[in-house]
Amino acid sequence: MARTIFESVFTNPGKPFRFVGRYSFLDFINTEVNEAGRRVNLLTDARDVVNWLVLAKMFERTKLKSASEKWQAGKTGVCIWKDALVLRTLLRRMAEAIVADRPIPRASIDAINLLIAKPSGVTKVVKTPRKFERRFELELNQPKQLLVPLAQSAADLLCRGDFSRLKRCDNSKCAAFFYDTSKNRMRRWCSGAECGNRMRVGKFYERQRHEIRSGRGNDLIVHARAHARRAPFHPKPTGEG
Ligand SMILES: [Zn+2]
Repeated sequence: MARTIFESVFTNPGKPFRFVGRYSFLDFINTEVNEAGRRVNLLTDARDVVNWLVLAKMFERTKLKSASEKWQAGKTGVCIWKDALVLRTLLRRMAEAIVADRPIPRASIDAINLLIAKPSGVTKVVKTPRKFERRFELELNQPKQLLVPLAQSAADLLCRGDFSRLKRCDNSKCAAFFYDTSKNRMRRWCSGAECGNRMRVGKFYERQRHEIRSGRGNDLIVHARAHARRAPFHPKPTGEG
């Protein structure tokens, strides 16, 4: 299910981060959003990057907080932020290439390999609600390690994902990336409640305008006016969103 989060984790004002992609690196790419035809960057400093990593549950919260507090200031913070944006661009190019059925840029694969080459961490046995699991926990000795889980997520898609399920939202004003896990592979929107509903409403009014132009105008105008007086329009979902 799609999540939109305005929560502020540390002290920065919250950003409308969205978690709709199924792969965390897709959500990371989606931190660049379309607004009025322009691409807008939601990650404006290192704190945004760290906030996003916490919300994406990429690291244990307290561990990330204590490590990042010393890194967010000064030059290190700028490096974290710049490295994150460079990686995001390379991952975006990779996702765009997959959707367009083009070869994946070498630079994207190199960036992923560089990060996943030697992830330092510890393997632990962790109790889950029903059983025990063995988990590898990344350590945070250096700022670059913040980006390792994103590279791992991209590597997971490259090695185990089904490329035909990687899509962009049908709402061209959004165009967010997502991985379609629906059975019939018919998911069209990043979120049925947001873009899906918006597009359905748009199509409804477009159809009305067309019918009015083609001669059924008077009846429809009367009907639409009566409808508008009753309640705002919320069309029923017709499929997956
Ligand atoms: Zn969308």
